[in-house]
This record gives sequence, structure tokens and C-alpha cells, in this order.
Amino acid sequence: MTTVYNPADGSVAAEVADFDATQVEEVAARLRAAQVDWERIGPKGRAEWMGRYRDWLLDHAQELADQLQQEAGKIRSEAHIELALALQVLNYYRENAARFLRTEHPGPHGLAGVVKRQWVHHRPQPLIGVITPWNFPVALALWDALPALMAGCAVIVKPSEITPLATRFVIEGWKEIGAPAIFECVTGGAESGQAVVDTVDLIQFTGSTRTGRRIAEQAARRLIPCELELGGKDAAVVLADANVDQAVNAITWGALFNSGQTCVSVERVYVEAPVYDEFLAKLVAKVGELRDAGQGDIGAMATEAQLNLVADQVADAEAKGARILCGGKQVGQPGLYFQPTVLSQVDHTMTCMTEETFGPLIPVMRVSDVDDAVARVNDSRYGLSAAIFSGSARRARKLAQRLEVGAVNVNDVILNLLAFSVPHGGWKESGIGSRSGGAHGILKYCRKQAIVDNLLPAPLPLMRMPYQWLQIDLLPRLYRTLGARGILRRLRAFR
Ligand code: NAD
Repeated sequence: MTTVYNPADGSVAAEVADFDATQVEEVAARLRAAQVDWERIGPKGRAEWMGRYRDWLLDHAQELADQLQQEAGKIRSEAHIELALALQVLNYYRENAARFLRTEHPGPHGLAGVVKRQWVHHRPQPLIGVITPWNFPVALALWDALPALMAGCAVIVKPSEITPLATRFVIEGWKEIGAPAIFECVTGGAESGQAVVDTVDLIQFTGSTRTGRRIAEQAARRLIPCELELGGKDAAVVLADANVDQAVNAITWGALFNSGQTCVSVERVYVEAPVYDEFLAKLVAKVGELRDAGQGDIGAMATEAQLNLVADQVADAEAKGARILCGGKQVGQPGLYFQPTVLSQVDHTMTCMTEETFGPLIPVMRVSDVDDAVARVNDSRYGLSAAIFSGSARRARKLAQRLEVGAVNVNDVILNLLAFSVPHGGWKESGIGSRSGGAHGILKYCRKQAIVDNLLPAPLPLMRMPYQWLQIDLLPRLYRTLGARGILRRLRAFR
């Protein structure tokens, strides 16, 4: 059993089971058996169940928010954001799945192709394993699981052992509506996660780069595909022509939403010299207004280890010459709260500028010009996303293409995640593959199956034994006639 704690006050929230390998295999066998019919009912049949599931989720929104607050110490409004995201994913793939999964019928080509008809079917991987972290227990589980379900797959979700309750609750909802038994939750820690990787056909993982590497190794041994959404060290760049107030507002939210425990949090800020002082003064004033310790703006850190990591980064920065302009301390004990903190005079010798923080820190660095900013942003092993603030959206978009990251928000933060028609995926050590991206977000859970048959009532007798004049003499002439460059070269076939 694993004990789940409430980080807002240290109380015990629940005890949950640790699924062992045998139990995970039993769940997987059940899901595989039910998946056959789930694929057969097609996107329209599946959309019906999704519609009923949407009703259930909305009818249980308050209980869901209660659970998220209890296990993750979120403030109420941020707990609700999880369901808001999940519902948009649900509606997007529910409405578009049939179109995205449509069978392709490519045209003929080449010597053999002209007498053939060809199709590409998108057949679901039977069983998908979704392994999730603790920062968005519902949003991340459903963001990955719902398109997989709409693809016709069965899905097994293994939530973080730190926050398993809300995930388990939403998957119970699938059972409550009486839907086919193709969606289940298994709880437990790393060993339960390994058991999932050992039994599924594709693994969709979100979590740390360290664990992602292990999962990739395990998946490689089984020769199953894996998609990894990993850590980040996202930067915001404020150019001299930016609207400074707009940048301050967006960066404050981007850095402090969910107490900074968001993969795409703004974790470092580079400001062009002419607006550096103005930006910093306004940022400190803004952050200084916020109510901490769960009083409305900043929720708890999920674990003591995470809180200590943030405190260590602040201490490291201070020891190397950074200035703490506001915050900098734990508050609200026994709750795990850390004050929203602004640091200046930071550089890349400090861990707060190079290692993932996952906490409410905003380190701000002055840069001399755009080239300096690009070099700093790209000086990272991570490449998840970034933000650029500029008075010229065109200039910002051009600059974005010099950044080594999977996504760039212009004059905003984080909200690229809600644009489901573009991909969300990390470069470098931030991941492999991507979610969303229109049709890609559902096709990634499918195997392509090619079917080729004959245009004419009978196949051409080209490839038949024993070989005769047709294969020995005519075939070389035919492929030259059809494949050579220019009329003269083609005619050489008949010399
Ligand atoms: P983690 O890697 O410690 O754990 C993630 C999940 O993996 C948990 O469910 C855990 O039980 C499981 N796990 C651990 N070891 C395993 C193993 N050997 N085999 C299989 N499963 C195993 O991550 P965390 O601390 O829960 O989450 C924080 C991290 O997640 C941060 O680095 C953050 O950036 C990242 N994250 C990334 C995204 C993204 O979309 N790129 C989104 C959210 C969070």
C-alpha cells in the first residue's frame, strides 16, 4: 500500500494499492479482450460513449476538484483548470476522430502500381500504457488517454503514487456510465509502472527525463514504441520593444501557475537591457501583491522533496551572488508552501538557470541583445517550449525559429497547449514524439495497415515462374521505358 498525503496540511488523504506485475497482467488481459469490440464499433460508436463520459465528468467536477486539492494541494481555481483542459481534448477528438482516422486511398505509381489499388487503414494499437506525473493528475492522464480511446485502443493508466486519487476517480467514472471495459487505472510506484511497460503495445509517458530514459530502455528491449514528454527549463525573452506590462502579467502567471509545477512553466527570463530595470521593478511589484500559502493565488508544493529542491536552488543562487527581490522562503507550515520568489543578478553557473526548478521561482537575467538572448535560451539540455515578448509579432516569429525548442508562444505563455491542431512535444532531453498536432494526436496510437489489390480482374503475369521472355526480355525494356529520364533514354529500351 502507498500512503497519499495532503501537502496543504500534511494529513493522510488515503491509502492506495500497489499493483504488482501479476495484477497488471490480469488488467491488461481483460482490456485486450474487450478492445476487439471497441475497435469494431468505430469512431461513431466510440463518440457516443465519449459524450456520456463528458456528462459524467461535468456532473462530478466539484468532487474531482476536491480530490485534486486533497492530494496535490492545489488552489480551487487551478484544480478546475485540469477538467477544463481535459474536456477540450475530449470534444476535439470526439468531433474529429472519424475524419482523422479515415482510410487513405493513395493513387497508383510505378510499373507494378499502375495495375493495383491501394489503401492505408489506421488500426489501433490494442493496448496503450499511459504513465503520468503528479503535477496534473487528471489533465495529463486524459489528454493522452482520450485520443487513444477514440482511436479504438484500450488504455491502462498508471498515475503517480503521489497523486493517484483523482486519476482513479475519473477512470471509475468510465465504469459508472456502463461503457465497455477498455479503460482502467492501476496504482503504485515505479514497479507498477515497469509492469505496465512490460505488458502494453505502446507506452505514452509523462514525467522526469531520468525516468523517461529508463522507460525508453525498457521499451527498446520489448521493441514497442514509446513517446516521452519530459522535463523542461522554459525561457521567456522580453525584447526592448515589448509591452512591458503585458510581459510582466503573462510571465507572472506562466511562472507561478500551479506553484510553478508545470512542465512548461516560465523558469528563466531574459530581458533586453533597455527595458530590464522597468521589467524587474514591475515584476517585483506584481509578485509582491500575490497571496501565498494557499490563500488564493499560490498552492502547495506537492512533496517535501520538491520544496527542498526549490529552497536549494535559491540558496545556491544567493551563495553565487544572486539577489532575492521578493519571497525566498517556505511559509504556512505544516503545509508545503514556498513564497513566490523573484531573483536578479543570476547567471548560468546557478542551478536555478540550468536545472529544472518546478517551483515558484522567477530568475531574471539582463541580456545585451537578441543574439545574446538566443544563445542563453539555447544553452540548455532541455528544449520544451519558450515565450517571446515583442512589439512586432513578425520579428518574434522570426526569432522563434532560432530557438531550440518544440513550441514558442508569442506575447503569451503556456497557452499553445490548448491549440490542439499544433504539436506539443519537447526537443533535446525534453522528450521524444509529441501529443496533439491535429490528426497526429490520434494516429500516433495506430498502426498503419497497407492493403493492395488488383485493378484488373486478374493480376498481370509479370512475377510468375518459370521465367520466360516476359520476365527475361520484356521486363528490362518496360522499366526503362517507364523509369528513364527523357524520351531518348526511354527509346533505348527498343534498340
Ligand atoms: P517521475 O519521472 O518521477 O514519475 C513519473 C511517473 O513515472 C510516476 O507515475 C512514477 O510512478 C512512474 N515511474 C517512476 N519510475 C518508473 C519506472 N522505472 N518505470 C515506469 N514508471 C516509473 O516524474 P514526476 O516527479 O512525477 O513528475 C515531474 C516531471 O514530469 C518533471 O520533470 C516535469 O517536467 C515532467 N512533466 C513533463 C510534462 C510534459 O508534457 N513534457 C508534463 C508534466 C510533467
